[in-house]
Amino acid sequence: MKKLPTAEIGIFGGSGFYSFLTRDHPRDAEPLVQKINLTTPYGKPSAPVTLAKISGRKVAFLPRHGEKHQFPPHKIPFKANIEAFKMLGVKYIISPCSAGSLKKEVKPGSFVILDQFLDRTHGRDDTFYHGPEVVHIGGAKPYCPDLQKIAIKACQTLKIPVHKSGTAVVINGPRFSTTSESAYFSKLGFEVINMTQYPEVILAREKEMCFLGIALITDFDAGLAGKVKPVELKEVLEVFAKNNEKSKKLIFEIIKNLPQKVDCSCSTALTGAKI
Ligand SMILES: [Zn+2]
Repeated sequence: MKKLPTAEIGIFGGSGFYSFLTRDHPRDAEPLVQKINLTTPYGKPSAPVTLAKISGRKVAFLPRHGEKHQFPPHKIPFKANIEAFKMLGVKYIISPCSAGSLKKEVKPGSFVILDQFLDRTHGRDDTFYHGPEVVHIGGAKPYCPDLQKIAIKACQTLKIPVHKSGTAVVINGPRFSTTSESAYFSKLGFEVINMTQYPEVILAREKEMCFLGIALITDFDAGLAGKVKPVELKEVLEVFAKNNEKSKKLIFEIIKNLPQKVDCSCSTALTGAKI
């Protein structure tokens, strides 16, 4: 069998990230290295994986919705995507995602470095362990605390408005929340709403990889109706485009500052979790 190339850092692109490594890349990214088609025991990932070098580190990029945005949130092959990164030897996953704000103070254009999620999805295959091997992965701290710190610092360096922690309510989609649903999440005090963080983060944890979730706030969710000025579609699209630009710069800054070794316990998440 042909030996696979390797990568240390895996990046999931959200909507609008497709040109991430192929176009407009900053000077410290070497030109596109290669694109590879992978097949995992869980099927094909959502797209071929693009491999490149950024600041001397090997990076793999995968657009989670597919190259032509053909996978809606509930149809993303999450397990194949995570497994594809694992097969390449990825240790750190950077996962930016577009999100709506559930709080007045979390403004469009700001970034939230996620530390928690609330799973409101259904019907998604969310574990690699369906038996006979039984694993109860710890969920108390699903996101890597070390990558979180690096990301906060990188936002501050780039002067990107940042919330240092936050919970992502993950809804199944593809529909958006009703005003009542959104008001409910908002009242419970959660920060952002999104459709893709779950089960991505927990599958990465089952594979003992560090996972960084960055919510790029595009608009206020429906539940804040009457509390904030409604955002017009034109503004949403403008914020969305600006967020993508900022998040590219942020990812380059994070990679530049990523130490060779981190101190977290993500790489031993399965210790004590197996029955
Ligand atoms: Zn970690």
